[in-house]
Amino acid sequence: MTGPSAEEFLAFQRQWMRTLVSSGYATAHWDRRWPGGGRPLDEQIIIAEELARADAPRLTLYFISLFHAALTLMEWGTPEQQARHLPAILEGEVWCQGFSEPNAGSDLASLKTRAQRIGDHYIVNGQKIWSTLAQHADYCLLLVRTDSSGPKQAGITYLLMDTRSAGVVRRPIRQMTGDEEFAEVFLEDVKIPVANRLGEENQGWRIAQTTLNSERGLTILELSERLYHARWRLLDAIGQRDGQVADDQRRREAVDVFIRIDVLRALVSEMMAAARAGADIGAMASFVKLHYASVLREFARLGERASAGAHLRDAFTVGGGYETGNWAFDFMNSYQWSIAGGSNEIQRNIVAERVLGMPRDKAPPA
Ligand SMILES: Cc1cc2nc3c(=O)[nH]c(=O)nc-3n(C[C@H](O)[C@H](O)[C@H](O)COP(=O)(O)OP(=O)(O)OC[C@H]3O[C@@H](n4cnc5c(N)ncnc54)[C@H](O)[C@@H]3O)c2cc1C
Repeated sequence: MTGPSAEEFLAFQRQWMRTLVSSGYATAHWDRRWPGGGRPLDEQIIIAEELARADAPRLTLYFISLFHAALTLMEWGTPEQQARHLPAILEGEVWCQGFSEPNAGSDLASLKTRAQRIGDHYIVNGQKIWSTLAQHADYCLLLVRTDSSGPKQAGITYLLMDTRSAGVVRRPIRQMTGDEEFAEVFLEDVKIPVANRLGEENQGWRIAQTTLNSERGLTILELSERLYHARWRLLDAIGQRDGQVADDQRRREAVDVFIRIDVLRALVSEMMAAARAGADIGAMASFVKLHYASVLREFARLGERASAGAHLRDAFTVGGGYETGNWAFDFMNSYQWSIAGGSNEIQRNIVAERVLGMPRDKAPPA
């Protein structure tokens, strides 16, 4: 399978970013000091819903910049860091998130990338993995270990790394879809100024929670709306294969998925109502994401079965959502939602412990 070239993807995303920034739709969740910012959550929800309804392209290249980087900088950045980066993000500065490592994903606090302070710099050595679009990023939100003596969460520091610094090597990872959506990032004696530290040394774990919670349910809201509006694609796939009327079995399966999409939208709506009321939506978000991952997989699996591999050699679209109608691509791509942002098993642990009150998962050794 092939898709657009990196150049085509970047050019399109840059142009789409300019359009959404100038209309104010890219920064609705920023604070009111910024163009387009300061909109209430209700309006942010409407923008996400309308973009989904229009089947507008997703700003995948700038997702980390606009949510994770911007909101973390607004809460924790010094005035200098904010002045350096927030206008630059509006101009198209691309950020990636360097949190996961080969042995620190679900158990993120086990990260081992080491930073040693020497004068007014940190010297960083280690490896990050699964950094979305890091090969195209200008800056990286980087979690490093500065202390190994106490509890593992207590020795983590948060740095802002220029990805063009000497000693940074980015290697794209090719997925089974043919796309290269991630990169590994190797760090060898990378010099990062202390002025690029966010918050205090060893305070990184707390700051990382701001990053991880930055999109407050808006992504799943938008994705579930996209799935809802893409139901015709599944009907189309079934109709194309079987004539005007789908066979009973397929029709039953499609109806089942459509009902589950309605349930998803109801759950999302309840979650957003809780968010509007200022409640902690953590456990609810786990439940909703689990349901989304499962419905999306089922939706893409039905489409793939109905089209019987017809799209295997078709070019794929990137940034067009997860239900593009290229069923082979969509089916493979749907797997990422059972891992990204916390795997299904981790979400189930959260639901079991925090919603159902079951005994806590045995913590891995520190
Ligand atoms: C689409 C996508 C985008 C991503 N983007 C980024 C990014 O930009 N930056 C970044 O830093 N990372 C990113 N990641 C990485 C992501 O955060 C990790 O893949 C995720 O946290 C899981 O970690 P892991 O891959 O190391 O798997 P592991 O943590 O090694 O888990 C392996 C398996 O063991 C299971 N498991 C682990 N712990 C438990 C437990 N306690 N109980 C039960 N089962 C358990 C998991 O569910 C999984 O099935 C991305 C991942 C995806 C898929």
